[in-house]
Amino acid sequence: MRFNFDLQATDGRARTGVISTPRGDIRTPAFMPVGTAATVKAMLPGSVRQTGADILLGNTYHLMLRPTAERIERLGGLHKFMDWDRPILTDSGGFQVMSLAALRKLTEEGVSFKSHIDGSRHMLTPERSMEIQRLLGSDIVMCFDECPALPADRAAIEKSMHLSMRWAARSRDAFGDRPGHALFGIQQGGLEEDLRAQSAAALRDIEFDGYAVGGLAVGEGQEAMFGCLDYAPEQLPHEKPRYLMGVGKPDDIVGAVARGIDMMDCVLPSRSGRTGQVFTRRGVVNIKNARHADDPRPLDEHCTCPACRSYSRAYLHHVFRSQEIISSMLLTWHNLHYYQELMSDMRAAISQGTFVEWTAAFATERAQGDIEPV
Ligand SMILES: [Zn+2]
Repeated sequence: MRFNFDLQATDGRARTGVISTPRGDIRTPAFMPVGTAATVKAMLPGSVRQTGADILLGNTYHLMLRPTAERIERLGGLHKFMDWDRPILTDSGGFQVMSLAALRKLTEEGVSFKSHIDGSRHMLTPERSMEIQRLLGSDIVMCFDECPALPADRAAIEKSMHLSMRWAARSRDAFGDRPGHALFGIQQGGLEEDLRAQSAAALRDIEFDGYAVGGLAVGEGQEAMFGCLDYAPEQLPHEKPRYLMGVGKPDDIVGAVARGIDMMDCVLPSRSGRTGQVFTRRGVVNIKNARHADDPRPLDEHCTCPACRSYSRAYLHHVFRSQEIISSMLLTWHNLHYYQELMSDMRAAISQGTFVEWTAAFATERAQGDIEPV
């Protein structure tokens, strides 16, 4: 069975469809929870699946350093190692090398760096990144690229984009022919429309199974990001999945889907679950706030997650303040459930041709803010 994308309906620029892989289908638009170190923190894989996730993201940079890709391969691959049998997408390691590692040296060949864990020296190249992602057993492999932080001047973005396109060609060659596995190219070019177009053309020439809009959500702000998404996805092939990396807040996600994005990932729902930030249909709730201490109501009376079904705001406030482990478990579960329900609602609205009405209702409900204190 080969990797395939079946685009089933469009509504304006928004799209819904199904990506088929030997490890199961991915309904799009899809949100991918992040399992950085072979775990979505505070969640069992079965629980992540119960929230509605079809696919997880794993981080090459973290896994290559600890426990190493070679060790995971000897132990049967990442799916078996972490007990998740559905699709996994791995990033290339490039972005996290630039954000986490020390003493980085960028050359045409790749990036050499020191591990942030133990100071050991490593080299990531397109070829090594493809090898690591193959050892992990990733279903969707990302090209090795360079992502400059914004703002950056046009000359720097252009130079970096061309390097990423040379690395994309090397990634394609190193990936080879692996039926059932997909390789995605990554468009770069910052906020420059013509550079984005050049990047898209270079990637189309190489041919990939899917295409990511890279280099966004790096500090440019939502307005600038949406401005870029007004043209960038349309420059990529219509019939292939489009993935926006590292996004985002619920309203970022809705805005990206409205602009033709099919896949997204972000640490926000899981990370926020551990810091007491809760996403609801009526905006963000800070559970550590004293107003929740006597509140017998659930976080969201319409939510069917375990945190909302079985617990009061007062309990969630108490376990967060007491730093109990169950706090991270329940709030992460709720946040991931909220994100997956958001995706499911958008898929239904796009199928029914009511996406514009749905986005208006989404904004209106959020604008109400949290329910009144007791
Ligand atoms: Zn809930």
